[in-house]
Amino acid sequence: MPINVTRSSMPDFGEYCEEIKELWDSHWLTNMGVKHKQLESDLLSYLKADNITLYVNGHLALENIIAAFGFAKNSEIITSPFTFASTTHAIVRNGLTPVFCDVNKDDYTIDASKIEDLITDKTVAILPVHVYGNICDVEKIKAIADKHNLKVIYDAAHAFGVKYKGISAANFGDASMFSFHATKVFNTIEGGAVTYKDSSLSEVLNDLKNFGVHGPESVKFVGGNAKMNEFAAAMGICNLRHIGGEISKRKKVVEHYLNRLSGVKGIKTWALQENVTSNYAYFPVVFDDYKYTRDEIFEKLKQNDIIARKYFYPLTNSFECFEGQKGFDVNDTPVAKYIADRVLTLPLYADLSLETVDKICDIILD
Ligand SMILES: *Cc1c(COP(=O)(O)O)cnc(C)c1O
Repeated sequence: MPINVTRSSMPDFGEYCEEIKELWDSHWLTNMGVKHKQLESDLLSYLKADNITLYVNGHLALENIIAAFGFAKNSEIITSPFTFASTTHAIVRNGLTPVFCDVNKDDYTIDASKIEDLITDKTVAILPVHVYGNICDVEKIKAIADKHNLKVIYDAAHAFGVKYKGISAANFGDASMFSFHATKVFNTIEGGAVTYKDSSLSEVLNDLKNFGVHGPESVKFVGGNAKMNEFAAAMGICNLRHIGGEISKRKKVVEHYLNRLSGVKGIKTWALQENVTSNYAYFPVVFDDYKYTRDEIFEKLKQNDIIARKYFYPLTNSFECFEGQKGFDVNDTPVAKYIADRVLTLPLYADLSLETVDKICDIILD
């Protein structure tokens, strides 16, 4: 069995069966049933958010929250290219233009000191990414957004359970998107949610995820279908019961990696940010003038059945689907390019054994 970069957390089989049992009585499988309602309320209290709307996945949550703000077509959103395809695609699929801002050298989140130079009269929002669960400079971003009257939407797909100065990641900006994909710290198999400050968005989001249907005889929006089903919600209810334990186990794995790899010349390991309670979502390592390149390490691990991932390479502003388009140029974001060319995300999940971590580190250090 290969060691993959991640492995989904699952409850005991019996616990899940118990959770879905009543669905066989009700025959109510989707369309905001009892499990959906319960998960929504469980998450509201876990994330300490003002409002939450659940989705079939994180990507459509992000697409819908952008749509819900009703920005004029061709408006610009300042964002980071050092992320998963979803972030940039959510902007473009809404008919809006991403404007790429470079990232910080240390935590790979958006470089807030470079945002203001990118603001034009078309800018309507900032969409930063709490990449690897590292929290963006939320204070500086808020100050810029307030000054220029911009919305702030966080891609918090990696930040489930993370806190900054004791405040849940769900509370920064106007809205935050979380992904509950199988590969994330908390999963509902596939799933996602958006948390937000303005409670009036709730009606719009609920309509948008259900074909724009507002009532039996009223269709207010040209919406899609992005509802979370009852089986996914039940998985979430179970997984949420164990989230604390899962994060503690991840922490032990990360600490072991740090013991083995930090301080090695040419290897820059992930570092815990000041004032942040982490969820230990990822363990990215940057090989910078190390005796082997990132690609050599990647291949060597692969030969040993260890599948690390080049998260995030290539940058979204170099995707072939955007080739030749104005504003999509990796040279505009040199720090992001530098990191993307050297970063490797090592296997990390709650049940990864410390012996396997040793094996991975031995291969890297050999
Ligand atoms: C996983 C992920 C998404 C998309 O979430 P899905 O639930 O897979 O749709 C968006 N942004 C980032 C940074 C992600 O890692």
